[in-house]
Amino acid sequence: MAKVRKVPLRMCVGCGAMRPKMEMVRVVRTPQGEVKVDTTRSAKLSGRGAYVEPRLECLEAARKGRRLDRALEVEVPEGVLAELEQEVRRRAAQAAGGVGRP
Ligand SMILES: [Zn+2]
Repeated sequence: MAKVRKVPLRMCVGCGAMRPKMEMVRVVRTPQGEVKVDTTRSAKLSGRGAYVEPRLECLEAARKGRRLDRALEVEVPEGVLAELEQEVRRRAAQAAGGVGRP
């Protein structure tokens, strides 16, 4: 058996890989039906969530296949996808630099 981990895993809608929730970017459909990129540190926004790894390949795959729409069961507006891309880029840059934001 694999060792037991306490890290909650979530599936990337881009590539289908399971990753620690903490490392993912969360997109949420609120109970009001709005779609938002959850930039809160602990993914606090309530609603149905979908996760993307902070990698541009995964974002593109999710975008092209409209996989976020399917995961959230709603049409994700372009503005949200743009916001998601910004967040992915920001996180990817952080991961690459290994430093926090100023
Ligand atoms: Zn992925």
